[in-house]
Amino acid sequence: MKKFLLGTNWKMNKTLAEGTDYTVNVSEIITKYPQFEFFIIPPHTHLWKLKELLDSKKSALKLGAQNMHYEDAGQFTGEISPVMLAEIGLDIVELGHCERRQYFNETDETVNLKTLAALKHQLLPLICIGEKMSDRNYGISKEMLAKQLKVALKNVSADEIGKFWIAYEPIWAIGVNGIPAETPYVEEIHDFLRSVLIDLYGPSGKDVPLLFGGSVNINNASEYAQLTNVDGLFIGRSAWEPDLFEEIMILVGDVVK
Ligand code: PEP
Repeated sequence: MKKFLLGTNWKMNKTLAEGTDYTVNVSEIITKYPQFEFFIIPPHTHLWKLKELLDSKKSALKLGAQNMHYEDAGQFTGEISPVMLAEIGLDIVELGHCERRQYFNETDETVNLKTLAALKHQLLPLICIGEKMSDRNYGISKEMLAKQLKVALKNVSADEIGKFWIAYEPIWAIGVNGIPAETPYVEEIHDFLRSVLIDLYGPSGKDVPLLFGGSVNINNASEYAQLTNVDGLFIGRSAWEPDLFEEIMILVGDVVK
């Protein structure tokens, strides 16, 4: 059975000591909730240590990185390559988060190059797409999202289905100033994204996991999780404390079983 996906990007938060405590805690908590597939996405500096920790506990918690370059090696000071992430034995690499797009010049084209590089190195790309509030106001959300999705997946064949995930995260819903999206809007957009994936891949487009993210919290998580084309939740702040994260597991667990 396909498990519901539940995970968190820590962004630039948690020291290694804090992250280690969190990971120990969460890897114990998740043993109570086998209906989910869980993942955490810490800063790069924590990945080796946390991978060793998770392996030593035989934990089912999957581990990912927040970004990478698309080249294997080269003159790219400050960057990390897919070879380096694969050497750690990571499961996932997050690509195209709106903060990377906004502050670090990530484009649809670089997300595509990174997606292809990740797949080549057996890393699962978690590709983030999302529209601005101005796109929504102009009535062009679907056009913007279709473009982001199609460019990110250029030259990604149907054989790779199951080896990449898509996260829809409206930019205006993300972070401390984010406004949580209305459930009917999330439903409409996820149904639309599913139709784009079916256009691209035929019926197997139904098997691409589609996660939702952006101010997911204890008040809205179970509503989003019940939507037909929501296969997982990608959570920031509300999953950064193990207790709060567990509240979401309980609430969502009741509806996804
Ligand atoms: C995010 O940044 O991807 C995110 C979902 O953050 P938050 O849940 O804190 O809005």
